[in-house]
Amino acid sequence: MARLNDNYLKLKAGYLFPEIGKRVREFTLANPDAKVIRLGIGDVTQPLVPTILKAFHEGVDDMGRVETFHGYGPEQGYDWLANTVIDKSFEPLGVELKTSEVFISDGSKCDTANILDIFDISNKVAICDPVYPVYNDTNVMVGRSGEADEHGYYEGLVYMPCTAENNFSPAYPTEKVDLIYLCYPNNPTGTVASKEQLAGWVDYALKNEAIILFDAAYEAFITEPGIPHSIYEIEGAKKCAIEFRSFSKTAGFTGVRCGLTVIPEELTATDAAGNQVSLNKLWNRRQGTKFNGVSYPVQKAAAAVYSDEGWAQVKEVVAYYLENARIIRENLVAAGIECYGGVNAPYIWLKTPEGMGSWEFFDKLLNECHVVGTPGSGFGPSGEGYFRLSAFGSKDNVEEAVRRIREKWGKE
Ligand SMILES: *Cc1c(COP(=O)(O)O)cnc(C)c1O
Repeated sequence: MARLNDNYLKLKAGYLFPEIGKRVREFTLANPDAKVIRLGIGDVTQPLVPTILKAFHEGVDDMGRVETFHGYGPEQGYDWLANTVIDKSFEPLGVELKTSEVFISDGSKCDTANILDIFDISNKVAICDPVYPVYNDTNVMVGRSGEADEHGYYEGLVYMPCTAENNFSPAYPTEKVDLIYLCYPNNPTGTVASKEQLAGWVDYALKNEAIILFDAAYEAFITEPGIPHSIYEIEGAKKCAIEFRSFSKTAGFTGVRCGLTVIPEELTATDAAGNQVSLNKLWNRRQGTKFNGVSYPVQKAAAAVYSDEGWAQVKEVVAYYLENARIIRENLVAAGIECYGGVNAPYIWLKTPEGMGSWEFFDKLLNECHVVGTPGSGFGPSGEGYFRLSAFGSKDNVEEAVRRIREKWGKE
């Protein structure tokens, strides 16, 4: 009899989004005339911009001619895409990378999950709380944890609470950890790390011989000068950090699928004998065996993101979402609601009014304002009492949603 991976049974069933769906369905059945506005999603809503679409089409047409047909590409992605990203996105930050340090992939969800392949199970892992659930659940799946306790904390994983009390900037773990997940700009809190804060983490990682897994999926949403777009802007980070980037939120590629992972050649970890071994080589080997590259038309489209025209168009879409974020933030603040994020990220993280629980606020917002958001507790125990609103959506809907919220909670 085949045995399953028992670690999967430790996972809490995908509870958050099914539960939201269920409550919204029940509400719309009971209130068929209500115009429900969804600000709960973590997915883009605007279409691909013209320059990217054109490159995508050209890539498809290339596939139909024998002279320009492309079969299997390099598992690491085409050099021309890696070099474009290096020249257009890292070089301007003062970050020099080699082509061989950039691995093109079909998105950073997979990469942040698959990276665990190259690390021993004995590593101690630290994650933020609240958090993008992938980091937590993939560590449970590989067997790095015991069971979850009544709060939802898995035994053996180290959680770093991020709340208003610490300005969403977690304290360093008090026990020795080997891998530290950081995500800035952050999902779900929408907050960022300053250069000093990131330098603190790099320093901590170097001193403690830990590796930082840095998720920069929302890098393109940074508006404030001085906020690092890449962890490699910090001196020493190449010796202690892997960075994940994605075209998903940057350029609307959630349904197209393209991302990249940077593993600097000088980044090492120790083998069983205590030798320092390059992680770049291990990841290269891993991708070569388990991955067969991103489709050629997708990589053509991704390269167009960084053309002058493409980038200008992409920035307009990002600005559109950020304007939504501003509208949400300013109106909630005017209604007397405490808000975080929304300046360098498409998410607004709000403190639920009147000390309501996350789900209690969800129900109230749905029933009284017909607006759907995401309960903060769904991202981790420290998210209890918080709520996430997303700026992905149309400006009209966002304006209507905040108008209803102000009617309900406004002090005027
Ligand atoms: C959306 C998102 C990603 C991107 O995932 P893809 O697989 O590239 O679409 C990565 N990290 C976080 C925190 C995200 O919210």
